[in-house]
Amino acid sequence: MPLKLLINGAGGRMGHALVSCAAHDSGLEVVAKIDVADDFASALTGCDAAIDFTNASVTVGAAEACADAGKPLVIGTTGHNDTQRAAITACATRIPIVFAPNFSIGVNTLFWLTAKAAAILGPEFDLEVVEMHHRLKKDAPSGTARRLAEILSEARGQSYAEAVRHGREGMVGERTSAEIGMHALRGGDVVGDHTVIFANVGERVELTHKASSRDTFATGALRAAKWVVTQPPGLYDMQDVLGLR
Ligand code: NAD
Repeated sequence: MPLKLLINGAGGRMGHALVSCAAHDSGLEVVAKIDVADDFASALTGCDAAIDFTNASVTVGAAEACADAGKPLVIGTTGHNDTQRAAITACATRIPIVFAPNFSIGVNTLFWLTAKAAAILGPEFDLEVVEMHHRLKKDAPSGTARRLAEILSEARGQSYAEAVRHGREGMVGERTSAEIGMHALRGGDVVGDHTVIFANVGERVELTHKASSRDTFATGALRAAKWVVTQPPGLYDMQDVLGLR
């Protein structure tokens, strides 16, 4: 019996990629393609799990509907504020949720490498994160760039909010060793580029990932959907799905 899926945001760029990738997997069946004008909660009844790739203001309602219906959820949407994140975390006490800023295996490897490099290179290296996405992306910085900065700030024993400095303009003074620079570039049809820079006097390490197709995110999210239906309630990410913890 294929896993019956609801795709929330089915009319969007990621929604199209999810529907098309699921069509090539005999273990999956998309039974509900939901977008802005559709009733999410009633469509959920006939599904085993839902996948949300919409926008940040939509996810909490979807998560609450899934929690009320007892249906597992995969969240790919990014750009949530702290209140929205707390509401999603609360729903995860009732259902299993995979909430990941990036579903590609390559980026999840980059997360792992970033933690390793930060530990090896130590506090002498200045840290900067640069991301580039297509001109239509609405949130900034990307969820993946935020996660990279969280990994760097955790390695330094700092909080994300204290450490991150978004862009620089005017007489900003010398860079402090405590800050993590964050830069969001936008243009064209770039699917998603991320670079973490570790810069010291005399040398520099750069870790870069470039996505060239949304299918890499879609196949990862579909893999997460198959995994999440086997899990107890809780908040998980792609590192859990891939067994990288
Ligand atoms: P998009 O704008 O192309 O698609 C979003 C879709 O959601 C649209 O079709 C829109 O009509 C729909 N939508 C809006 N309100 C809705 C509602 N109330 N109910 C149902 N549908 C609604 O955007 P996209 O490029 O597909 O990206 C979607 C989200 O996924 C963004 O937050 C993006 O940053 C994120 N994203 C995450 C990953 C990842 O790996 N986690 C990868 C790519 C994109």
